[in-house]
Amino acid sequence: MRVAVVGSGFAGSLLARVLAVQGHDVVLLERGTHPRFAIGESSTPLANLALERLAQRYGLDDCYDLAAHGRWVARFPELRRGLKRGFTFYRHHAGRPFAVDGSRTERLLVAASPNDHIADNHWLRADVDHHFVRAAVAASVEYRDRTQVTADTLKALRADFVVDASGPGGFMARQLAIPSALTRMHTNAGLLYSHFDGVRLFSDVVPGLSPGPYPDDWAAVHHIIDEGWMYSLRFDHGVTSAGFLLKKRAAGTPDEIWHHLLQRYPTIGRLFGDAKPLMRLAYKPRIQHRLTRAAGKGWAMLPHAYAFVDPLFSTGIAWSLRAIERLGLLFENGGPTEQHLARYDALLSAEADQIDRLVAGAYQAMARFDLFAAHAMIYFAAVSFAEIRQRLLQDNAWSGFLGVGDPELGGLPRASLRRLRHARTPADRRAFVKWVSKAIAPRNVCGLADPGAHGLYPVDLDVLVQRHRVLGVSREALVSALPALRA
Ligand SMILES: Cc1cc2nc3c(=O)[nH]c(=O)nc-3n(C[C@H](O)[C@H](O)[C@H](O)COP(=O)(O)OP(=O)(O)OC[C@H]3O[C@@H](n4cnc5c(N)ncnc54)[C@H](O)[C@@H]3O)c2cc1C
Repeated sequence: MRVAVVGSGFAGSLLARVLAVQGHDVVLLERGTHPRFAIGESSTPLANLALERLAQRYGLDDCYDLAAHGRWVARFPELRRGLKRGFTFYRHHAGRPFAVDGSRTERLLVAASPNDHIADNHWLRADVDHHFVRAAVAASVEYRDRTQVTADTLKALRADFVVDASGPGGFMARQLAIPSALTRMHTNAGLLYSHFDGVRLFSDVVPGLSPGPYPDDWAAVHHIIDEGWMYSLRFDHGVTSAGFLLKKRAAGTPDEIWHHLLQRYPTIGRLFGDAKPLMRLAYKPRIQHRLTRAAGKGWAMLPHAYAFVDPLFSTGIAWSLRAIERLGLLFENGGPTEQHLARYDALLSAEADQIDRLVAGAYQAMARFDLFAAHAMIYFAAVSFAEIRQRLLQDNAWSGFLGVGDPELGGLPRASLRRLRHARTPADRRAFVKWVSKAIAPRNVCGLADPGAHGLYPVDLDVLVQRHRVLGVSREALVSALPALRA
């Protein structure tokens, strides 16, 4: 088939390469050029598993090496990245430094890997996306950059199928006048962001923290504040990607808002006070987008062209890779039929709703850290259960992302959001925490929502073995499969 892929972010380039490896005739069209700055940097275990599967299925050995920190550094030292050992959350309060207060410290650390070697990475997208484009070209994808793609361009290319990988560029939405579905989204936040040099380590600014399952800063760090939250992703070469997600735009220029927030939250102020932005701080009003269709006869969108919710929980890369696996499978068998595309469309729609409810619940919970930490357990239960199943048992690319279609997990983000909207008193909050613990129990493979953990969750294989029944396997079968978790 002749396939045109519009947009050469990592996702468009990787899908183009997969299709070329299958023998399709692929043209990759980009309006800009590489290398170029992009955000959306923090990967997760589910993203890395998808990369490994794509590597294995299509012989893409670079993808295998990019799926773990140690392999990445050894094979591609020139591609900049940051070690990501887990998810770190802190709750800050206006006018007060972050308080270390024993088990009441508002800190949550959830490890995503047992050691640095097989850890996840933050991707410096300028380097990584450029790599994927070059790899696509090496696999015989025809690449045209600085191209304004129009309906006439596609006609001239005689493409049998078009993949929209233009992200928020919204290529297909304009071509086909696809209506927006933004009104169905609960999440609503603007973004103030840049890359910075000289961000201090949290442990230097806040001494006395009890040792966690990994060094706090080598993670996707989330600072929760009254106005929303801030992400901070540290790359190995000393640069940090950071941005505030703000529920309401404050008055002033991006610089003024930035300095106001740094003053209002003294610990964040100390972390970033001497840091230099490497490019002008930028503000984007509402960053969410969502369309009413993701696929139709002769075309399909990758997730970021179809919908984007929020960086909270780092869902974008993993979701994009899942969609690449699905489309890859459809193209293996002669190309997607309308029935396949309808299935793809319905699944992406359900997954976009799921991410939105999960994130909206987190925003709802942010006012109280106990609520937030409990709600976050729904995300961690869904991804850890999926990860272990994919690693140890079987994988099916059509199983839903974040518990979509799972009778135990599927309804939890919606139920949680509803409950959070009514959790006002301390008794309500205690009841919510209990409810989450019970609700995730049928899928809780890693001992989440444990009051005895005091917010610090390592990767603990003994707990996994104890919970073998949750996975539906015998203790012996699980023990014999354990090496797959350490590879
Ligand atoms: C603030 C923010 C933070 C994020 N953080 C994370 C995170 O920590 N972890 C995570 O997993 N995900 C994150 N994401 C999501 C992540 O950015 C996306 O999942 C990822 O970028 C998807 O890659 P892509 O290749 O599909 O699209 P993009 O990276 O958006 O690439 C689209 C490409 O298409 C090109 N293009 C656009 N329009 C056209 C056109 N008309 N013609 C030709 N080319 C066109 C663009 O120039 C670009 O090169 C974040 C997103 C945002 C907004």
